[in-house]
Amino acid sequence: MNSTYTTQSRALAAAPARKNRRVPVPRIWPVTANDVYAILGGNALLILAMWIRHGGPALLATTAGVFTAAGEISALFGTYLVLIQLILMSRSPWLDQVFGQDKITDAHRWVGFGAIWLLVGHGVLTTVGYAMGLGASPVDEFLTLLGTYPFVLWSAVAIVLFMGVGISSVRAVRRRASYETWYAIHLFTYLAIALGFLHQLFVGVDFTTDPIARIYWIALYLVAFGTLAVFRFGQPINISWRHRFRVANVVEEVPGVASIYLTGRELEQLPVRAGQWFRLRFLTAGGWYRAHPFSLSAAPNGRFLRFTIKELGDYTHTLQSMPVGTPVFVEGPYGALTGAARTRARVLLVAGGIGITPLRALLEELPAARGNLTLIYRASGPEDVVFKREIDELASLRGATVHYLVGRRGSAEMPVDPLDPRGMRRLVPDINDRDIFVCGPAGMMSRVLSTLRRLRIPDKQIHYERFAF
Ligand SMILES: Cc1cc2nc3c(=O)[nH]c(=O)nc-3n(C[C@H](O)[C@H](O)[C@H](O)COP(=O)(O)OP(=O)(O)OC[C@H]3O[C@@H](n4cnc5c(N)ncnc54)[C@H](O)[C@@H]3O)c2cc1C
Repeated sequence: MNSTYTTQSRALAAAPARKNRRVPVPRIWPVTANDVYAILGGNALLILAMWIRHGGPALLATTAGVFTAAGEISALFGTYLVLIQLILMSRSPWLDQVFGQDKITDAHRWVGFGAIWLLVGHGVLTTVGYAMGLGASPVDEFLTLLGTYPFVLWSAVAIVLFMGVGISSVRAVRRRASYETWYAIHLFTYLAIALGFLHQLFVGVDFTTDPIARIYWIALYLVAFGTLAVFRFGQPINISWRHRFRVANVVEEVPGVASIYLTGRELEQLPVRAGQWFRLRFLTAGGWYRAHPFSLSAAPNGRFLRFTIKELGDYTHTLQSMPVGTPVFVEGPYGALTGAARTRARVLLVAGGIGITPLRALLEELPAARGNLTLIYRASGPEDVVFKREIDELASLRGATVHYLVGRRGSAEMPVDPLDPRGMRRLVPDINDRDIFVCGPAGMMSRVLSTLRRLRIPDKQIHYERFAF
């Protein structure tokens, strides 16, 4: 799997002087997308059956009852979506393998909004239904419910918290807030879930009288929180403890871009593939509470993990001069932009700017036969081209073709977009017969993905990673 190329030309003082080793690949989980859909659909049917079993349809006889029934159903399915959210947030490797991070992120966004609408709908519909049944005004009924029913006040607080999380995720708001603020607001989700859980178990008609439904509902919570606990907390603690990662060296690649080498114990036993990424938490006094995602920029070799980081904001600025010896808490590996995704013998790698990192690692790791591997590397200026020497050396060692496309789009040197369908086909005439791996800035990625679709390249041959959630 690994080529003989080793990045050994780099000063790697603290890395053990051992040979590169073949590292194990992450396990393949025996799960398919259809399995996931079947389980999700099956549970949705069970929830509906539970509501029918508890006499829900009888409510449909009156208008007030229709509102109440819609309120009950939206509570059940709103909560179900919240639990699915927990699993989507769990960073489970099996989910990563089946759907890839981008689809998970999209699903997380839409399932989240769906859950909030249903839970808000539950509050409104139930209040209106009860008010109509009693001939009271919805406002009076709302105040009565808040004041007299157990845990209704708590669930109202939960809904407000969910709404806050939802508003912070609306794109216009998200763009204005820092990632940290957005993330901190998201932590309130856990409090909201706890408040809503008590409300459901002690007030929900489906659970107060039926012990089987109660056990089933608690089991759903246990599965969701268990998945979160195992993969989001247990797995990172396990690998960080076992491998004791620390910074071995920091090397400037070009101004504003530095490679950080991590070493650790038994790295040759860490299952990981080129193209994957980790969430790194550097355990310094001022930085231990922040974890940021970075891709491997060299194929795993059992000796060190290399990450190459562009200075973009305050955090990536501090990383450019991280002291050697700093311990690092590592979560991962994540991501499906790996050789395992290949469907064809030939591969095209399309990198933009710092999006070169996972593709540089893949250039080193993917099986090479003359003509199989082509890299297109797009950069705004010569100063943005990272790894030029490494890439040229790797290309000649592995028989790969490299096209550097350097210059600003629309400038005199680059009047036409070289990544439009005509440009791409000119550079890679057999593009339709290749797997294409893409990573780069958002705008460039959208243009490349649209070009690939216009070239009628099937989705299963297109693999990409976004550098922003
Ligand atoms: C899967 C993945 C792989 C990545 N690989 C690399 C890489 O190999 N090299 C590289 O230079 N950059 C990589 N990035 C981007 C890198 O994570 C961000 O540039 C970095 O976190 C910015 O932090 P900052 O505080 O310096 O900048 P800021 O200006 O605070 O943030 C810039 C943007 O980075 C994103 N971001 C910030 N903090 C986080 C966080 N904690 N978690 C997730 N996203 C965040 C947000 O979209 C934000 O708008 C990767 C991102 C992802 C999602």
